[in-house]
Amino acid sequence: MMTSSFFPPQRTLMGPGPSDVSPRVLGALSRPTIGHLDPLFVQLMDEIKELLQYAFQTENALTLPISAPGSAGMEACFVNLVSPGDTVIVCQNGVFGGRMKENVERCGGTAVMVEDAWGEPVSTDKVRAAFAEHPQASLLAFVHAETSTGVRSDAQALCALARENGALSIVDAVTSLAGIEVKVDAWGADAVYSGTQKCLSCIPGISPVTFSQRAVERIQNRSHKVQSWFLDMQLVMGYWGGSAKRAYHHTAPVNDLYALHESLVMLQEEGLEAAFARHLRNHRALVAGLEAMGLSMAVAAEHRLPQLNAVNIPAGVDDGAVRAALLNDYDLEIGAGLGALAGKTWRIGLMGSASTERNVVYCLTALEAVLSRQGASIKKGAALDAASAVFSA
Ligand SMILES: *Cc1c(COP(=O)(O)O)cnc(C)c1O
Repeated sequence: MMTSSFFPPQRTLMGPGPSDVSPRVLGALSRPTIGHLDPLFVQLMDEIKELLQYAFQTENALTLPISAPGSAGMEACFVNLVSPGDTVIVCQNGVFGGRMKENVERCGGTAVMVEDAWGEPVSTDKVRAAFAEHPQASLLAFVHAETSTGVRSDAQALCALARENGALSIVDAVTSLAGIEVKVDAWGADAVYSGTQKCLSCIPGISPVTFSQRAVERIQNRSHKVQSWFLDMQLVMGYWGGSAKRAYHHTAPVNDLYALHESLVMLQEEGLEAAFARHLRNHRALVAGLEAMGLSMAVAAEHRLPQLNAVNIPAGVDDGAVRAALLNDYDLEIGAGLGALAGKTWRIGLMGSASTERNVVYCLTALEAVLSRQGASIKKGAALDAASAVFSA
């Protein structure tokens, strides 16, 4: 049997990622492949490093994209900074903190868990208490933007707590980068990883990371070899490093990096502040529309992420049927609840290129239609006016 080519439908991606990829980025992806040691490609690598420094608001020399998804960026931070026997304070207020714990333990470290309820930010008081109880802790790890719950934690305060206690910080900025402030240098964050498929609106599969000078020193002074050959930053540095001579480590995903470059150029053209303002405005309009419809948000207003909106599923509504109708009838993807929130919330992403006035209006319209058909008790005809009021304010 002959298998035919795959032609995906044109969806609107308003889930927890991947988000809509701009046609400019898809266009860049299809340009001719060149060698990964071609002088022109080496130049492109240098530009990507500079553009990532801009996105991360850092001057860290060790700033580069790992050739694998956000989870690999996470792992790169842990395997390079955790040595066997280390104590690491890990904050968990959703799915991703649990993965950090896994990483610490697989590196032979001990994870001291600081737990907060799903839907709440990380408590700085609890972190302070954890440092008091475990003064030997050498790292603090936390998620800045918890995609599983739609909550933002106070990264600046948490990084400061790590510094005060002589520890380095590992920050998950997968969903935050390019959607809300990620100020690596101003915060004094030590190892920060992100992903390309959330607010950068690039294709999935690349993970930008940045390491402070303090983190680089810790990596250089390790007495145990990094357990992962692929993610060992000393080796990766030889490939992505500053000198003109590049040592072959692996073959960079050449076309994927064209795409990343294009998405970062787009971010630079728009400007970080303008991108943050756009995410915030569209978030406010979406929330106004949802609330006018009679739905409620799952997270307190002061902790909400503009790029990931957790909405309570109204009683009596069939979660799966609503999402299936949105996908099948409207080509619209929104996210299901994860872990403890499965079946309780929807997660509506407004990330990167998908954070537009058009998508806010489209999502409100489609959701209202589908919920009405299901007989949900919502207020009809009010959502768009409420969203409009935000847009025209
Ligand atoms: C999506 C996400 C990840 C994992 O990224 P992948 O590209 O899926 O590997 C990690 N942390 C957070 C907070 C995320 O939202």
